[in-house]
Amino acid sequence: MDNLDTYSIMVHGGAGDFGNLKSDKDRVRCLESIRSVLEHGRCILQSGGSALETVEQCTSLLEDDPVFNAGAGSVLNEAGKVEMDAAIMCGATLKAGAVAGITNIANPVQLARVVLAESDHVLLISAGAQRFADRWNFELMPDSYFLTPQRLAEWEQARPGQHGGSIGVDAETSASGGEEKYGTVGVVARDRLGSLAAATSTGGIANKSFGRVGDSPILGAGVYADNETCAVSCSGVGEDFMRTVLAKTLSDIIQFKALDGLAAAREGIDYLLRKVKGRGGFILIDNQGRCASAFTTKKMIHGWIELGGETVCQL
Ligand code: ASP
Repeated sequence: MDNLDTYSIMVHGGAGDFGNLKSDKDRVRCLESIRSVLEHGRCILQSGGSALETVEQCTSLLEDDPVFNAGAGSVLNEAGKVEMDAAIMCGATLKAGAVAGITNIANPVQLARVVLAESDHVLLISAGAQRFADRWNFELMPDSYFLTPQRLAEWEQARPGQHGGSIGVDAETSASGGEEKYGTVGVVARDRLGSLAAATSTGGIANKSFGRVGDSPILGAGVYADNETCAVSCSGVGEDFMRTVLAKTLSDIIQFKALDGLAAAREGIDYLLRKVKGRGGFILIDNQGRCASAFTTKKMIHGWIELGGETVCQL
């Protein structure tokens, strides 16, 4: 590792049990996707690209992959429709952009980036966000672009009267063999100048109520970045992460207890469990470029490159 290798990147494809990934082929497919997104991020960061650019581009790639619950392949709400949420945050300026309850936009994270760069606001929702997208010439994709046979089958199974909804399963139950799978995507990065950024994008929770918004577009809950502390992206039951403001809590642990990312991750996951029996997990890069992750579910699909080192993927 040379002295210039101060960049780090972490990527996740959601926390859960992933009972749906039955075969080795499915697992390999997910891990390959995470690995190729990490390598893409490495190229940007190695050539001097910013953390903000990196998280936007890498999150877009994950949104394009129908295996994950974001962009194409998003889960369906109770009405059988895709409604997506996304956010992006710059740790150098604390500027952020977020969109919630949006439809037919292939890359919600790109819309969030335009909110960050071009509007006076942080969060735009549903019809207002759609109008903003239209002003910025975002192409509208047909519903069929987002729908996969697997999501349709999951929706059928999760409908009232069928067995299957995720919410209501407690952390212990899920760890012992439930069928939770969240699949939100997120990327955090530190560039060679030491700036941090975070992005999270999701279709939300399968069979969620029409209009429900999760933690992903809520700063401090499912996403946060501050150069003084860390960059965080979460996945799991959004309500648990909103009630504990987990991403900002992790940042505060680093800020006010002077801990590094690993120690903060341990404290943060204990807090999530102790306070709300929270279901899910997060990835975190601290201001020194150290990578940490923690989850209360059986698994979290994720990977990282720490300080320009080797690429590691886990499921
Ligand atoms: N956190 C997301 C939400 O509650 C779901 C996920 O992580 O898959 O909307």
